[in-house]
Amino acid sequence: MTDVKVRFAPSPTGNLHVGNLRTALVNYLFARREGGHFMLRIDDTDTERSTPEFEASIRADLEWMGMNWDSEDRQSARLDRYDAALKQLADAGRAYPCYETPEELALKRKAQLSAGRPPVYDRAALKLTDEQRAEHEAAGRRPHWRFLLNDAEVTWTDMVRGDVSYHMSSLSDPVLMREDGRVIYTMASVVDDIDHGITHIIRGEDHVTNSAAQIQLFEALGATAPVMGHVALLAGADGEGLSKRLGSLSIGQLRGEGTEATALASLLARIGTADPVVPQAAMQDITTGFDLSRFGRATAKFDPAELVQVNARIVQQLSFADVADRLADAGVDGGEAFWMAVRDNLSTVAEAADWWQVCSAAITPVIEAADVTDAAAGLLPEGEMSADIWQPWTKSVAEATGAKGRGLFMPLRLALTGREKGPEIAPLLMFIGRDRIIARLRGDSA
Ligand code: GLU
Repeated sequence: MTDVKVRFAPSPTGNLHVGNLRTALVNYLFARREGGHFMLRIDDTDTERSTPEFEASIRADLEWMGMNWDSEDRQSARLDRYDAALKQLADAGRAYPCYETPEELALKRKAQLSAGRPPVYDRAALKLTDEQRAEHEAAGRRPHWRFLLNDAEVTWTDMVRGDVSYHMSSLSDPVLMREDGRVIYTMASVVDDIDHGITHIIRGEDHVTNSAAQIQLFEALGATAPVMGHVALLAGADGEGLSKRLGSLSIGQLRGEGTEATALASLLARIGTADPVVPQAAMQDITTGFDLSRFGRATAKFDPAELVQVNARIVQQLSFADVADRLADAGVDGGEAFWMAVRDNLSTVAEAADWWQVCSAAITPVIEAADVTDAAAGLLPEGEMSADIWQPWTKSVAEATGAKGRGLFMPLRLALTGREKGPEIAPLLMFIGRDRIIARLRGDSA
């Protein structure tokens, strides 16, 4: 292992959607590619909105993706550390108590905006005298705490965005702790990243401003900020923000629709880069082809239609061993021969079960050309059905009826499967069986 250590830090206040799954994946692949450490950190300080159910669902999604983590921690177990960090900052003059109510702050912002000024916190609380503070306390007000930003330019070389600089005068001093003593993510995350020895923070570009302030927080706490990388957010296929459906589409739903984990990984590891999406059925291969430096600043387009295509290409690469358990669970009993007979025609593994039904349960045949199907019933060879009989059999039907091409094959397909499209018929014959084949060719449900 190298000393590279990254973390994925979900808040268990909702299910994972494609956007945050991508952040997790990029961290995972980066860690594996570098021979480093991938940590799961549960950001559960928002006790009102965090639930054990959401946390369980996030874990289940990561496990389903095959993104195993090397260690984990949770913020709710570290509250003492945040209190200690706040004290350290206050002692150093970098954290200060503020007594404004949310309503007072809203009024200030409104006044600033109507005067055409940016709504940056005016640091009025810094100017409070000891007596004024005591008065607030005596009146029962509890302070919230802000971080005193250094009025300086913060610069960093971002793994994705290149050189970034932010002048702190455009930012409000961030709140570190609420009046009820609950820590805010901005500080908790920095304290965690220091204590956990995180070397690279990779997250969405919606965190760029946070990062600017957090870099100063790292330094104020006596640490050096990790290397940062902010990946562009996902947009829908039309370049607009993710549609409501996609933005809230849970990974569980995608899985329910038959999406393979590696299809999602193949796509999410490449969109937003200049490289083509390559459908790869093994996470190991996706890891080998991963390169964070290929990610660009332009929004990455997530197109559900592309996911469907990538998924089909992956399903068509899966070996029988890859799917045997799932087929057995779905009652598909045709072994490897059946999987190989239908695989090339599938978009999802679950569709194999439909074809199993078509072969092994009654269907309503469609008789398009009775002369062809009647002749086929009469000419069907005796004995075991196998793919090998298809060629001589259909040749004899062609000779007897004069039908050829579509006029020969479509009536057979419609009678034998009830459908216009599907896998090649020859390898399915053994699964339909002789009696059913004859019954269906005669137009009987069988
Ligand atoms: N819990 C934060 C979020 O989900 C983590 C951000 C980070 O990676 O620092 O946005």
